[in-house]
Amino acid sequence: PAELREQFKKYMKEGRIERNVWLTDKDENIALSLRHTGEVLYDERTPYQHVKVLNTYAFGKTLTLDNMIMCTEKDEFHYHEMMSHPLMMAHGNVKNVLVIGGGDGGVVREVLRHDGVEKVTMVEIDGKVVEAARLHLPQIAVAFDDPRLDLRIEDGIKFVADAPAGTYDLIVVDSTDPIGPAEGLFSETFYRNCHRILNDNGAMIVQGEAPRFNEQVFLDIHQTLKNIFGPKNAHIMLFHVPTYPTGVWSGQIGVKGSFNPAEFDEVKASEFCRAHQLKYYSPEIHKASFVLPPYVKEMIGR
Ligand code: SAM
Repeated sequence: PAELREQFKKYMKEGRIERNVWLTDKDENIALSLRHTGEVLYDERTPYQHVKVLNTYAFGKTLTLDNMIMCTEKDEFHYHEMMSHPLMMAHGNVKNVLVIGGGDGGVVREVLRHDGVEKVTMVEIDGKVVEAARLHLPQIAVAFDDPRLDLRIEDGIKFVADAPAGTYDLIVVDSTDPIGPAEGLFSETFYRNCHRILNDNGAMIVQGEAPRFNEQVFLDIHQTLKNIFGPKNAHIMLFHVPTYPTGVWSGQIGVKGSFNPAEFDEVKASEFCRAHQLKYYSPEIHKASFVLPPYVKEMIGR
C-alpha cells in the first residue's frame, strides 16, 4: 500500500530500518519469505513461544509464532473459512463447538456466523496471542466478545482429557505445528479424547499440514484419524493459503457419525455465503476441496 511505501521511505531516511527486511518461515528444505516494513507492532516472549505482529508489504499485518506465519490480514479468510464452513454445512445442525488453539480468533469468528450455534468453547494456551490479535488484528479478533463464546486460557490437551464424553457436535483444532506446546495436539491420545467427547453424530477437523510440507505429519494425522474414526470416516480437504509454505494446506476430518463431509445442502450453503459475503468458501469450493490429486491419493494409499 502507498502509505506503507511512504512510511518505509521516511524510516529509511531516518536510518530506523534496514533496506530489505524479510520474514522467513522455513523448515529444513523449504522457505517462504515476505518483505516487511521493519515495523514490529507486537513482540512478546511468552512461556510458550515468541509472539510477534509485523507489517508486511504484500499481505498486511502478519501474526507469527516463533517466526512461523500464523495468519496475515490479506489471506486469513482462506484458512478460517475452510476450517469452519465445510464441516458445519455438511453436519447441518451444529450447536456446541470446541475450538482448540485458534488464538487469533478467526475460526471463532467464522463458526459464530452460524445462527444455530449456541455455544463455542475456545481453549487457547497462550493469552498473549489473543492479546496481540485484539490489539493489532481486530478484524480477525472481532468475535471475542460474543456472548456465546467461553474463552479459556489453558492447555487444550488437558482440557479434552478432562471433558465429559459426548459433549460437542464439532471440534476444530487450530493448532501450531507439532513442536513445543502443540506437540501433544498431534498425539493419538489427544485424538482419542476428542473422539470420546464428540456427540454420536459429531465430527472434528484439524489443521492437517500440507502434502508437500511436513509430509510425514500430514500422513500421520490421516493414519491416526483412520485408526480412531475408521477408514471410511477419515477425510482430507485441500485449500489454497498463499502464506503457508507451498501454498496448499489441508483440513483433516474425522466423522464420528455417518455423514459424508463432502455432501451438504447447496441451497443453504449459497444463501449463507451470500448473507455473509464469504470470500473463499462457496458450494463449488466445498465440493472441489475434497477432490484429491492423484499424487495425494497415492501418498495415502487410496
Ligand atoms: N492457523 C495457524 C497455522 O496453521 O499456522 C495456526 C493458528 S495459531 C492461532 C495456533 C494456536 O494454537 C496458537 O495461538 C498457540 O498458542 C495454540 N496452541 C498451541 N498449543 C496449544 C495447546 N496445547 N493448547 C491450546 N492451544 C495451543
